[in-house]
Amino acid sequence: MDRPPASILIIGSGEFGLTTALSLALRPTFSSTTITLLDRLPFPAADGSSIDSSRIVRPDYSDAAYARLCHEAQTIWRGADATHPLHGIGADGRYTETGLVLTAEEGGMAYVDASYATVAKLLPELGVKCELELLETREDVGRVCRTGGGALGVRGYANWTSGWADAEGAVRFLRAAVEKTGRVTFGTGEVVGLVEEGGKVVGVRLKGGVEFRAELTVLATGAWTPGLVDLSGRSVATGQVLGYLPLSTEEWESVKEMPVVFNLSTGIFVIPQHTDHVLKIARHASGYLNPTTITDATTGTTRIVSTPRTVVTDPGLEAPAEAKAAFSATLSSLVPQFSGKQLSSTRLCWYNDTATGDFIVAYHPTKAGLFLATGGSGHAFKFLPVIGGHIVDILERKADARFASKWGWPSGAVEVVTRDGSRGDGGVQMVLELAD
Ligand SMILES: Cc1cc2nc3c(=O)[nH]c(=O)nc-3n(C[C@H](O)[C@H](O)[C@H](O)COP(=O)(O)OP(=O)(O)OC[C@H]3O[C@@H](n4cnc5c(N)ncnc54)[C@H](O)[C@@H]3O)c2cc1C
Repeated sequence: MDRPPASILIIGSGEFGLTTALSLALRPTFSSTTITLLDRLPFPAADGSSIDSSRIVRPDYSDAAYARLCHEAQTIWRGADATHPLHGIGADGRYTETGLVLTAEEGGMAYVDASYATVAKLLPELGVKCELELLETREDVGRVCRTGGGALGVRGYANWTSGWADAEGAVRFLRAAVEKTGRVTFGTGEVVGLVEEGGKVVGVRLKGGVEFRAELTVLATGAWTPGLVDLSGRSVATGQVLGYLPLSTEEWESVKEMPVVFNLSTGIFVIPQHTDHVLKIARHASGYLNPTTITDATTGTTRIVSTPRTVVTDPGLEAPAEAKAAFSATLSSLVPQFSGKQLSSTRLCWYNDTATGDFIVAYHPTKAGLFLATGGSGHAFKFLPVIGGHIVDILERKADARFASKWGWPSGAVEVVTRDGSRGDGGVQMVLELAD
């Protein structure tokens, strides 16, 4: 970046778009830059990945770079830095350290063991509060799940300094912080294509034909990104399932001490949402594909990509029966006292998955004027308090931008299946089949 762009247009008001907007708005370098943020839906986008009741916040990674980044984010989630622009984001029930039990089945322990090794070494080195408990047997796992039911895995460990965040509440807090800067203009409009002139992206075309121009366009469109720009072999939208089990006040009593429980063999995790007495169940997996033929708005060429199918495109959409059965089996084992109770709702939520699980925060290699901040791969939310600074460091092409290489433009592949070790299903993607 020789000089700051006169105008920056950010598409997407989820975690990546809003944190980029906040960091741009607060940096003196961009004090003369016009910043605009568009989303296809009024805020908060009902089917955005960042909008949900809860997301796990854990430094429990096999990769030390993410463990360290989560530690930095937790400092802000915990309210330990009063000078930070998002100070207070974890207050009022938006962040809770219930602890996290990371477990798996026999033969599926590699990620659990690697993660333990990482946090057991790194967190003490950083001088961080860190309470780890090794769980040697199925009985140990069952004891710390504190549900009165069975164990979700054969062994593992608990990190009592991990927890979860109220995702929608945190994104609303973030949006208010962006608004408070007074530097960002918000708008609603669905981008259907990029506007390109002389090999350069000069803006976007909205549904209805209106063009919106800017010197730099930032795509922070999550799982919708592969439908807007050709990312074949670099990222793929995968559908992931969620369900919600609301409990009465009396029922909640039997699970009120429960930590977040995550089985890396099945991918299923359960978050005890004390704020609304809901057990949220979800599956971190290779997920569903929804192959769709896309026609490029500029060139007219077609390609097939997986695109999100959500309650916005398909009102009443629910998780496939196979997923509901998996949820039911897990809940019967973990909280047998509630067997027979029905989930109040289920949902498909979409990851923008990369092969390594690393994000894509980079200038497009051949389309000048286009920057991408995406590729969350199902684990970006926890970094919300700190990720914007890193995104804008890369955007500014700072020589010391810490994640420039890790989040750089990925090398292409024939197909993208995330193999970061956290998906226990062996990379089996299923084609989404729903009754029309
Ligand atoms: C089921 C599920 C569970 C997860 N669990 C965790 C977890 O426990 N811990 C964790 O750290 N992370 C978790 N994640 C990952 C995390 O939530 C995501 O990585 C993160 O929220 C992605 O943010 P985003 O800004 O890229 O996408 P989004 O929040 O989806 O934002 C993209 C925005 O772009 C807009 N948009 C899309 N297309 C267009 C268009 N054409 N025109 C205009 N606007 C458009 C959308 O409306 C949307 O608002 C989970 C994700 C899912 C789906």
